[in-house]
Amino acid sequence: MNEINDIYVDRLYPYLALIRIPYFSSGLEKSFANIFLIIDEELTLIDAGPYTNGKSEKLCFALKKLGFDIKDISRIIYTHSHPDHMGGGIGIDEYKGMRHCIYWEAKEWVEQYGEYVSLVKSIAKNIFHEQLVLYPEVVSMYFDVIDHFWNLSSGKIEINEALHDGDLISTGKFKFKIISTPGHSPWDISLWEEKNALLFSGDFLLSKSSTLTGGLNGFGSDLISYESSIRKIHEYLDKTKCIFPAHGPSITSFSNLTGSLAAIVKERENKIFKTISLKDSSMMDLMKAVYPSFESVIVLARCLGIILTHLEKLENEAKIYRYKNGDEVRFALA
Ligand SMILES: [Zn+2]
Repeated sequence: MNEINDIYVDRLYPYLALIRIPYFSSGLEKSFANIFLIIDEELTLIDAGPYTNGKSEKLCFALKKLGFDIKDISRIIYTHSHPDHMGGGIGIDEYKGMRHCIYWEAKEWVEQYGEYVSLVKSIAKNIFHEQLVLYPEVVSMYFDVIDHFWNLSSGKIEINEALHDGDLISTGKFKFKIISTPGHSPWDISLWEEKNALLFSGDFLLSKSSTLTGGLNGFGSDLISYESSIRKIHEYLDKTKCIFPAHGPSITSFSNLTGSLAAIVKERENKIFKTISLKDSSMMDLMKAVYPSFESVIVLARCLGIILTHLEKLENEAKIYRYKNGDEVRFALA
């Protein structure tokens, strides 16, 4: 196997290793997805990172560097179905002993993974094109990110275990409790490991905030679920020593993490609501009000997704409504 330079591996503890694989680059900036290897009687991966060359060559290489082989993996537990975490599991079904596990509601969609990806991509493009119709340059930046991110148009995966809230998965010495934590996507799970008091949070809890995509006709983010997942995870945070998210550094100081996440959401919602109450606004008006600048196209796409998620919540609560002024979609107070 050739040397691959853009991955990182770190044996954090005797029983746990971190693998970082890039899934997006713009200019000099690279974005990475985290994969965790549980080193126990059954070698288990939490997530598989992005799709690389059909054979997950980066994941295989990373495992080799840690002294393991992809063939020895018993199980991959996906925290959610997004391509930066699940793509790496596509195309490695030749390893028959490996069990692919995801939240039960995701199973029927993701087994035809290429079709699922194409569907979500086209929904996202339609929705954001409609919202940004007067800003073709923003649409094209957004589409570039989406094309890069939702990049698999074929591929299947057999899900061997459909996970439910409260399930316990044993890897030998360790047990992982499945906690359904939807909001970032409809099917997110977190994993709680009691012995070492570790929480694996996928994209639900990140060190800064969460990323939201907008509802995407049921395939995207939903703030009502997100807020109730934040309340649900609270009892675990009291006893957690370390949170391992699917992007960025581990989180060790989180005495008020749920409080500050809830506050960030509330503050953003207030800003959006206030802007609309002053003047009927398009999504781009609200983008400028909430995020006056953004450092890269991936951040732009993230911010647009967050704004849309808030707008959909305010609409569902009948606090605002949308109408069309010519081609432009505007939001007004209800
Ligand atoms: Zn992600």
